[in-house]
Amino acid sequence: MTQVAQAYQPFTRNNIHTLPQFQRLDAETQHLIRVTSAVFPFRTNRYVADELIDWENVPRDPIYQLTFPQRGMLNDADFRKVSHLIETGASRQQMQDTVHAIRLRHNPHPAGQMEYNVPRLDGEMLNGIQHKYDETVLFFPSRGQTCHAYCSYCFRWPQFVHMDDLKFAAKEADGLVRYLRLHTEVTDVLLTGGDPMIMTAKALETYILPLLTPELAHIQTIRIGTKAVAYWPQRFVSDPDADDLLRLFEAIRASGRHVAIMAHYSHHREMSTPIAQEAVRRLRNAGCEIRTQAPLMRHINNRAEVWANIWQNAVTMGMIPYYMFVSRDTGPKRYFEVPLVEALRIFRQAYTQVSGLGRTVRGPVMSATPGKVHIQGTAHVAGEKAFVLSFLQGRDPDWAGRPFFARFDPEATWFTDLRPLADKPHFFYKAETISA
Ligand SMILES: *Cc1c(COP(=O)(O)O)cnc(C)c1O
Ligand code: SF4
Repeated sequence: MTQVAQAYQPFTRNNIHTLPQFQRLDAETQHLIRVTSAVFPFRTNRYVADELIDWENVPRDPIYQLTFPQRGMLNDADFRKVSHLIETGASRQQMQDTVHAIRLRHNPHPAGQMEYNVPRLDGEMLNGIQHKYDETVLFFPSRGQTCHAYCSYCFRWPQFVHMDDLKFAAKEADGLVRYLRLHTEVTDVLLTGGDPMIMTAKALETYILPLLTPELAHIQTIRIGTKAVAYWPQRFVSDPDADDLLRLFEAIRASGRHVAIMAHYSHHREMSTPIAQEAVRRLRNAGCEIRTQAPLMRHINNRAEVWANIWQNAVTMGMIPYYMFVSRDTGPKRYFEVPLVEALRIFRQAYTQVSGLGRTVRGPVMSATPGKVHIQGTAHVAGEKAFVLSFLQGRDPDWAGRPFFARFDPEATWFTDLRPLADKPHFFYKAETISA
């Protein structure tokens, strides 16, 4: 297939009025986008607007909900406050102060990311690196801290709205290599962001090539977390350095390592365009394995049919379904959250529709402070209705794979809402072991 190169052109709060589809929205909708995007980050692009969003179905369209800020993301008081500032032409400083106060009330750093997970080397904090589970180090290259479009529910949102003191960013790969030399238990390096695929192939090389030395033979997998396959598949097909990028992936393979693309697909429509399919074919031809993951979000993908479609299409296209996450306790969570019991129902209803090849997916999963908690189902235990849980990853590796129970609660939406069964003072693990 030949692809006509299309230049990446972002739309943000500052130039959204130039997007033709925005111009056709009614004045009230345009205003609410201006208000909500003053608080939460907003960015979209031509491809998302032209090929993924069904504008006939706005505001209910799932991809519109995924990429445009929504009224329900702010409570009435906050909405009125920001709306008033815009209407009265308030000063920049006044706007900044109000917006900053609202943001701070939206739990900008969930799951103890700041407190627990940034490692030290010779007493120095290694910013841009998180090491929570033995085998896998997360690396946030400083040049990859943005995305081709922003998800309205994004939990990395403080990175995009210039709360710089909270920003994880690595200046260079050097600290990473020094750290990995000392940590031979690490097998996987996960490049994440933002989206590392926002970088040029050249920039990406400066981070990846130093990892391919024989000295780091214990690093067996380079994982790359990306939503470019959905928001900008041109990255792998028609961008000027698309071929260089694939050559870089081939170089990782040639060093004897595995390239795992952790592809963020929120809806099956993101897999349906010809260029999205071509991107997957080209990545696979370069020797990459692609695993799919996304959080379950109200208004976007809270129907079993959507997940069954994602998993089935993934298998058909040669990808491996990996995680269905539960919406995190951060940002505009109220608008997007789904009760755990509903998440379970949707998961099971989708799971039962796909063959075993699609059942490689694990879900619903919560990335919580003590670990990655898999909600396996519900059961009656000693006369009490319970959630059956287990850790896929624990802060203590020994916690993984042991079933445990929490009191059934139809309203619980996150791990911190859950309580041990009536006859137990605490869950089987001890929270005070959190120290690393
Ligand atoms: C999910 C996650 C990983 C990777 O876990 P896998 O089970 O190997 O996919 C690593 N580090 C952190 C902090 C994570 O949340
Ligand atoms: S792709 Fe990931 S990091 Fe980027 S906006 Fe979406 S959720 Fe956030």
